[in-house]
Amino acid sequence: MKKGCNKIKDSKVEFKKNFRDVLDGKDVDITPVGTVTTSGVLELMDISGASRPEADRDPEKMAQLAGSLYTSAKLEIVRFPFDVTVLGQAMGCEIDPGTKARTPSIMSHPFKNNPQDICVPSDLLERGRIPVILEAARILSNKEGKYVPCLAGLEGPADLASYLCGIKPLMLLSIKKPELVSAIIDKCVEACIEYANACIDAGADAVVIADAMASPDMVGPDVFRQLIRPGLQRIAANIKGYRILHICGKVDSILPDMMECGFHAISIEESVDIKKAIKLAHEKKVAVIGNVSPAQTLYDKSTDKVISESISCLENNIDILAPGCGVAPETPLKNLHAMVKARNMYHGLEK
Ligand SMILES: [Zn+2]
Repeated sequence: MKKGCNKIKDSKVEFKKNFRDVLDGKDVDITPVGTVTTSGVLELMDISGASRPEADRDPEKMAQLAGSLYTSAKLEIVRFPFDVTVLGQAMGCEIDPGTKARTPSIMSHPFKNNPQDICVPSDLLERGRIPVILEAARILSNKEGKYVPCLAGLEGPADLASYLCGIKPLMLLSIKKPELVSAIIDKCVEACIEYANACIDAGADAVVIADAMASPDMVGPDVFRQLIRPGLQRIAANIKGYRILHICGKVDSILPDMMECGFHAISIEESVDIKKAIKLAHEKKVAVIGNVSPAQTLYDKSTDKVISESISCLENNIDILAPGCGVAPETPLKNLHAMVKARNMYHGLEK
């Protein structure tokens, strides 16, 4: 067990330094606790007065809801936006805006029949909700972001390619015309880099690239290595700030590849062998974030169960204690508090 220390209670500024230190591979006294995956929680909407769907398209509301992850949930990261369709929408997909309890989703695949025509629009940063997210980053960096890191999330190149072409057509192309899929991924990579750097310029302390389509649950490890990993490497090499890679599902078979993509940290789910992941990551000076189950535990279980699962993550030497994937809107706020409590108990800050 790590040594207890009261610094984190007394000084708000420590949260940002703590986060940066973890991503820089330095030892810290206190493990940060937060979320790097989408976390639009209904109770926080009620408390903050900023609800979806307005909080998905109004920068003030977005900042208000994200800020409540710190002010009300007591987490040490403010993560925004609350969905992963922003880049897809800006590149031409229609979205269903969702409701208070339902996240925006992709409704159309504009390049389904002509994937060879995908290009990054010259006015990308002015399209769709991108100006909203950039403005929210500016607002947050001058508010809660003074005390805790602001983290902007975006879809990764494989997710973006699946939005633009449709999952099935993309899967077929990966077998029939892998060189075309490489070219599509290249375009998506360009868009990810431009948008991610704009988020950092606007005040985000870090970006998280979430790429569910890159998961072994969706594509084989060989396809990942051949078609997706090079794109992720190029993204990491060209983002000018801290960067985190989140891939959903059981990623054990691609863990060594994820470590070699050039991200400061990886975010993983509870289905992954955490001991093995942390050993591999630390050998490569990559931090590991996770991996409390959002669906099984945070959403549905008692605070005692949240605490025991969180303590188990900490005992395994997790670098940032966090949900392993996106948090369900109906997740009880008391369960987010329980994660913070577990971290405090582990470090002797609270009984
Ligand atoms: Zn996920």
